[in-house]
Amino acid sequence: MLGITEASPSQIPRPRRPVTRRVVIIGGGFTGAALARRLALSGAELEITVFEPRARLGAGLAYDTQDPALRLNVAAARMRALPDDPQAFARFLQETGRLACDPEAVAGEAIYARRADFGDFMQAQMAPLLAYGAVEHRREAVISVSREHGGYAVAGDRGSRLHADILVIATSHPAPRCPEPVASALSGTPRLMTDPFDTRQLARIAATDPVIVLGAGLTALDLVASLRARGHQGLITLLSRSNALPQPHATAHSASPSACEVLGQPLTARRLLTRVRAAVAAAEAQGLAWQSVFDSLRQQGQAIWSALPHAERQRFLRHLRRRFETHRYRMPPQIAAQLQEDKTAGRLQRLGGRIVDARGDAKGLSLTVSTRGGEERRLKAQWLLVATGPDHADVIARHGYLQDLAAQGLIRRDSHGLGLACDGASRAICAHGAPVDTLFVAGPLARGTFGELTGVPEIAAQVDAIAHTLLGNAIRQIEAQAFALS
Ligand SMILES: Cc1cc2nc3c(=O)[nH]c(=O)nc-3n(C[C@H](O)[C@H](O)[C@H](O)COP(=O)(O)OP(=O)(O)OC[C@H]3O[C@@H](n4cnc5c(N)ncnc54)[C@H](O)[C@@H]3O)c2cc1C
Repeated sequence: MLGITEASPSQIPRPRRPVTRRVVIIGGGFTGAALARRLALSGAELEITVFEPRARLGAGLAYDTQDPALRLNVAAARMRALPDDPQAFARFLQETGRLACDPEAVAGEAIYARRADFGDFMQAQMAPLLAYGAVEHRREAVISVSREHGGYAVAGDRGSRLHADILVIATSHPAPRCPEPVASALSGTPRLMTDPFDTRQLARIAATDPVIVLGAGLTALDLVASLRARGHQGLITLLSRSNALPQPHATAHSASPSACEVLGQPLTARRLLTRVRAAVAAAEAQGLAWQSVFDSLRQQGQAIWSALPHAERQRFLRHLRRRFETHRYRMPPQIAAQLQEDKTAGRLQRLGGRIVDARGDAKGLSLTVSTRGGEERRLKAQWLLVATGPDHADVIARHGYLQDLAAQGLIRRDSHGLGLACDGASRAICAHGAPVDTLFVAGPLARGTFGELTGVPEIAAQVDAIAHTLLGNAIRQIEAQAFALS
């Protein structure tokens, strides 16, 4: 049955034949699915194919989970996944009865739903489009891409070979990398778990086993929540370089309309910091929470980033990034409550430092940590969980098809090491520095250009802009090319 938040069959333009232009989207997480949906609903004569090995479209790394302990870190009303219907997800939770089954989602006036629910919401958006053939889902990973007749030959790992007129890269998050010396010292040790997104493996951990989690960001806190929800009572040590945890959300809703004016467009990282501090002081003087300044900062993030000179962006990344992220990416109230409970019970400890030695055998693990204070500490545990988050630093090396595109000079890393270089219209920048009209970078891999491009609302807005460009310039260019060849 179609809910009112889903595209209804009458809204879905059926593709007319013959179709001459095909858009291939590589990666069907939130970004790839949102773009496919947007293009399908535009009514343009396009064949839209999404290559995605997962069973469903729209979930991707973040939302393809059944673990009920994993929650969105943004309130449902602020997810704004569909720019044409920003409250669609909040309505979906009500209309499908999910909220009634999950009373713990409600925290004050806000709803922090399960991540699985958001995956289901996106799946529901895509289902009618798939059923009516407006979008095709190929359950394959793309293994190679080459230039062909002005477009691209795309090959999947289960034998597909498809011509694309337009190609979109949306394989955003590579798996986390296990840092050295842990990787070489403990590789193959069953007590080392390197994929924090597969929480099913936590079933191997006994209720009282001491656990070390490498990382202290939202991914690490997700593991704490999953372990506790499974009845784990043992000591958890959060070990990270900075020893800084994500901050909690404000308890009450607060807005700071003046914050935007205070922030303006600072041209250095230092000035940005000074203005944020001043905005926080001004907000607090008005009785508002500091979080409201970061919400304003989020809205202006792309404008501030694009105005910052290259060297100042680098300075920001070097000196302010971690601090910014702990305030920008905040923990859901449910996790904040869990951490407080664990702290009171003495079941959670934090340590800032770097692992210098790691050993493991059948009985357990032993780590030597050089702490931030300069001393050496020995930690013992039964399990080590790597939760350092997706590693975007060398994304081209992580995908064969990106290596192909790089070898053909069609893509390159962005100069900040955040993903792939693209212009303000999300077109990939080739080795010679020019944008490629038919090749787009969608989602977090385009952060080097846009800055703030991790959360659902920002990605949804970028996807909208890509669709606009794609349906205008890129298609016109292909038509002109076809005309010239005829
Ligand atoms: C754990 C986590 C929690 C988050 N929580 C929130 C939140 O609460 N609120 C919020 O606003 N934002 C949140 N975010 C951020 C945001 O929603 C994500 O950045 C966003 O989902 C990115 O989606 P994506 O499709 O670009 O990337 P991904 O989710 O990484 O999807 C990429 C897809 O590409 C596929 N793929 C990989 N290689 C290939 C290949 N060779 N061929 C074909 N397909 C391939 C993968 O299977 C994957 O499904 C969260 C992010 C993470 C990681």
